[in-house]
Amino acid sequence: MKVKKVKQFGNGYVYALLTSSGKMVETTDTYLPYYTINAVGRRSNALIFPEFASRKDRWMIGISVSSGCPVGCKFCATGSKFFGHLSAEEMFEQVEFIVGKNKDFDPEKSKEFKVLFTRMGEPALNYPEVSQAIEMIKEKYPNAVIGLSTIGVDNPALEGWLEISKKYTDIQMQFSVHTTSEEERNELIPFKKKMNYEQIRDYAERWMKVPNNKRKVALNFTILEGNEFSMEKLEEYFPKEYFFIKLSPLNENKITRKNNLKGVIEEQNLK
Ligand code: SF4
Repeated sequence: MKVKKVKQFGNGYVYALLTSSGKMVETTDTYLPYYTINAVGRRSNALIFPEFASRKDRWMIGISVSSGCPVGCKFCATGSKFFGHLSAEEMFEQVEFIVGKNKDFDPEKSKEFKVLFTRMGEPALNYPEVSQAIEMIKEKYPNAVIGLSTIGVDNPALEGWLEISKKYTDIQMQFSVHTTSEEERNELIPFKKKMNYEQIRDYAERWMKVPNNKRKVALNFTILEGNEFSMEKLEEYFPKEYFFIKLSPLNENKITRKNNLKGVIEEQNLK
């Protein structure tokens, strides 16, 4: 892979990389202290102490599944352009690139080693390749926790991942919905074939019945000013036995500014 750009954060790096077929992707290499694994119990993943620990604690590699994204969410800079989906090999090579950059650390020895399909692209729109990439990652790094985040595309991807989760422990599933209003969700995420809230609920119920899936399904909300976040609807649609609710700050970018969007969470992601 060719490095086109790299930016260092307090707890890692973000890379702009060219894959072997010449597609531009974004890949992250970050780490956190091990106590942050209990974000649900602590009700926050903010740091208690200023130190970031090291890759021996929680090591997270965030990979892209496409170059750009065809969905075009109203708050996402990635979604303004789409250059094509990646192959499973191009996803796997992002993991290998980051592991190769950090030869002093052994992923097998990290207290948690996580590969998150959360950078550019919607995994469900490239699911055969994503599923194959999961197999490749789990074969080489059996301890890897796999994190999938989707807008809830209504296609066979989700059923496929339910099957994969029966085979491997530690597959984590997240739906990014951002508002409790279906109408507002359709405006923010202008992709037509999405599961509705009832379908997401039913899916999470089935997900939690898989013995391997001890961790609840995450429901991610980047709440924007003017959007609905109704506790009554949360209780009605998303029972706490199946879901944990995650509130994320808005990452401001040229698209959020163009669409005049403001987040309601004041905390910011680590810079
Ligand atoms: S699906 Fe994800 S990557 Fe694609 S536009 Fe929406 S937020 Fe961005």
